[in-house]
Parts: sequence; structure tokens; C-alpha cells
Amino acid sequence: MTTHIFSFEAGPVATFGYIAADMVTRQAVVIDSPLDSLHDMLSVIQENSLLVQAILLTHSHWDHTGNAHALKQATQAPIYCHPFDAYRLVEPMKHTMFRLPFIIEPSPLDQELHHGYRIACGVWNFDVRHTPGHTEGGVCFIDHTQNIAFVGDTLFAGSIGRTDLPGGNTQQLLASIHRELMPLPDTMQFFAGHGDSSTIGYERAHNPFLR
Ligand SMILES: [Zn+2]
Repeated sequence: MTTHIFSFEAGPVATFGYIAADMVTRQAVVIDSPLDSLHDMLSVIQENSLLVQAILLTHSHWDHTGNAHALKQATQAPIYCHPFDAYRLVEPMKHTMFRLPFIIEPSPLDQELHHGYRIACGVWNFDVRHTPGHTEGGVCFIDHTQNIAFVGDTLFAGSIGRTDLPGGNTQQLLASIHRELMPLPDTMQFFAGHGDSSTIGYERAHNPFLR
């Protein structure tokens, strides 16, 4: 297997970040940078001599972006995000629902992600799909060859992303899931921002929110 996915669950609301690596070329992308994940991510990057090419954000909620600025400083990798979610990166403390007992550093985006973009990294080839509903600028990263997707807080094992936060919209989220994720193959494995990974086929058959 030339690819490897490293998982990191961190922070006060148990958020997952991932490193998708090509273990031959050592090229890698980070998908989301949860608060308190920096130390573990940097250890894995160093131990495996990974060359981080991009910090890809599925969306800009603070629990997914809390270490993005520090990770960028440590790796020199640019931060990618959909422009509709950029405002939260610039002023993270202004856009939290609760008053947080810690500081989230601004982590302005370096590169915009748009629907239809391709992110290539070693053997990884991610198709960027705009999946608004949890936030305005939520995106999923889908690799059709590896049969793997990173979906942020759009879809979970047994659930879907919450839509009661500012910028959320239930109709829009369900439309995004049905348009972009449900047509994917049954066997495609997806990794979410919280909870277990699952397959598209299992969720299509069992997820109560998709009936
Ligand atoms: Zn979120």
C-alpha cells in the first residue's frame, strides 16, 4: 500500500484531522487542523519524513482550524479553504457560538478551494466538491481511485452535520449529501470530522437522516 491515512482526534469537542500521505514520495496533505492536534501531527510528519504540501480545510469552524496557523508556520504549507468560509478564518473569535475559554489564532487562507478543483499530491487526487449546509463554504475531498473521501462535518456515521450554527441550513445540507455523496460507490470509505469512519453504502442503507 503506497498510501496511508493518519488520524488525529483532538480538542474539547473531539474533532478529527487527517494526514493523507503517499508513503513512496512522502508527499502529504493535511485535512483539517483541530485544536490541540499540533504536537501529534508534527511528530507523525517528522517520524515519517512527510512533505506537507497543503493544509486543506473542510470548513472553518474553530475546532477544525484551531492549529492551522501554527501548522502552517511549522510546515510552510499553504492553507486552503472555500472562500465562503474565509470570514471565520480571519476572525475566529467573533464567529463562535459560545465564548471560548481559549484563543483561536486567525489563519487566513492562502488558496481558495472551489467546486471542481483537483488537489493532486503524490498518488492522491482529490476532487473538491462544494457541500454547503453545515457551513456556507463546506467542501468534501473525494479520491475516486483510492475510493476514499474526507467529508468534514457534512456526513457522519449514523448522522449528519448540525445545521443550527450560523451559516447552517438543513435543506441545503441534505441536498449537498444527496447530490455529491450519495451517488458515490457503496464501497467508498469516508472519514468525517467527528466519530467513526464508514462507507457510503452503509450510510445509504442505515443512516436515519437519509431515509
Ligand atoms: Zn463544524
